Amino acid sequence: MPECEICGVEIKGKVQDITIGSSKLQVCKACARYGTVIVVDKKVKTTLGGEPVQLVKAKRGLYEQMDLVIEEGMEMGEEYGRKIKEAREKAGLKQAELAKRINEKQSMVRKIENEEIIPSKEVWRKIERVLKSFL
Ligand SMILES: [Zn+2]
Repeated sequence: MPECEICGVEIKGKVQDITIGSSKLQVCKACARYGTVIVVDKKVKTTLGGEPVQLVKAKRGLYEQMDLVIEEGMEMGEEYGRKIKEAREKAGLKQAELAKRINEKQSMVRKIENEEIIPSKEVWRKIERVLKSFL
């Protein structure tokens, strides 16, 4: 019996082939939701004599969604607080002025600059809009 590469149980039913990012895994049905299910359409044959064409269906798996969130968070990069602070200073704005422009409290700007909180995507967009040329 093959074992699920995620939870380790013996797979009694059909083995699910999934991808998570660039890795392919063979998992049980319950774990298939963590990745993108690969459906190999046997009717389709490649003329190059290679593997059958893989039709990937299903929605993005949980892990991939998590990756996306991380990627979105990464666009502000490390030391985002310092970057924002520098950009704000270059723009000649005080914390309170920046806060007003993005419609948030000054304490929020201060916390973001101190990296006590990570700005939400929405807040980050607003900051980007105001400080675009300085970031
Ligand atoms: Zn499993």
